[in-house]
Amino acid sequence: MAKTLDRIPIAGLNLSEIQALLMNRGIDAGYSRRLLYWVYRRRISSFGEINDIPRKTLVAMGETFMTGLVAPMDSEVSDDGSVKYLYSTSEGLLHETVWLPDGKRQTVCISVQSGCRMGCRFCATGQNGWGGNLTAGEIVNQIISLPHGFTNIVLMGMGEPGDNIEEVIKACNIFTAEWGMAAGRGRVTVSTVGVTPSVKRLLDETECNITLSLHSPFPDERLRVIPAEAIWPFNETLRLMKEFDNSRKRRFSVAYVMIEGKNDSDRHLEELKRLLSGTAIRVNLLPYHPVGGDDERSSDTATMMRFKHLLVTSGIGASVRRSRGADIWAGCGMLAGKARIKDKG
Ligand code: SF4
Repeated sequence: MAKTLDRIPIAGLNLSEIQALLMNRGIDAGYSRRLLYWVYRRRISSFGEINDIPRKTLVAMGETFMTGLVAPMDSEVSDDGSVKYLYSTSEGLLHETVWLPDGKRQTVCISVQSGCRMGCRFCATGQNGWGGNLTAGEIVNQIISLPHGFTNIVLMGMGEPGDNIEEVIKACNIFTAEWGMAAGRGRVTVSTVGVTPSVKRLLDETECNITLSLHSPFPDERLRVIPAEAIWPFNETLRLMKEFDNSRKRRFSVAYVMIEGKNDSDRHLEELKRLLSGTAIRVNLLPYHPVGGDDERSSDTATMMRFKHLLVTSGIGASVRRSRGADIWAGCGMLAGKARIKDKG
């Protein structure tokens, strides 16, 4: 049998790629969908678990391919039941995944890069620098190797999807395609600072929901915390969302991390209303998790609920997301940061 390193991982391949690979190796390409089903839907760790492909064909497949599943190397469980997992790629790129159960809803927050080069001020990942891009297989692996079920996937962990757009689009299509995970339209959300050309591609080439990380409705204020504003103004992403022919009812939203005394005034509220009224773009209000050495604090619950109430009564969909997993450092990038510190120590 070929060595593991010589074999091609199936996780990360799309239907046309697996068809071409099987054909090139003289294996019946008619088995492509079945092979993807076992890897993406049944999440097998070895071909021995496949029971509907002839043995001879399976042996031939096993000589060329492997599932590509890689188990997490560490995990931390929060008091509220959420679990954070740490993964490493074969090149040692650390990245995190968080599983967030909430009644019937089980959301998995996955990473698209090891670290991030966007440098947002309120984000632990942004403060720790960038290690590299994850491949579609490494992005998809965070779901198929997870020891839990899921109902929703959010690309909101480490990294900026717009900065690794080719692999992100490929992974999103594996999540939603019927030959892939068939996660269901509307169950996959990509969160971005608004890399405009990448947002355009996400709209045109995937079926995913899109969340714009806004932070402030005023460009000059936003620039101070999200440096990407200088290159890709948030108004461009809002324009793309507003102009998109949304007959398939994809969900567009803005994420608004609320910081006491910084972006929670009536002035901010009024500008948010002006930007979003008459659109179907929703607002997700999020509590702030202070990053090390930071003396800023989250807006309190009453302020957040008031924001939500006043947005909703002016016709803008809004929700307050509660804080999860604070006791396991659930802020993105922190488990990987800890692992790096351990390594150095
Ligand atoms: S908020 Fe997102 S884009 Fe900004 S630094 Fe953190 S991971 Fe990167």
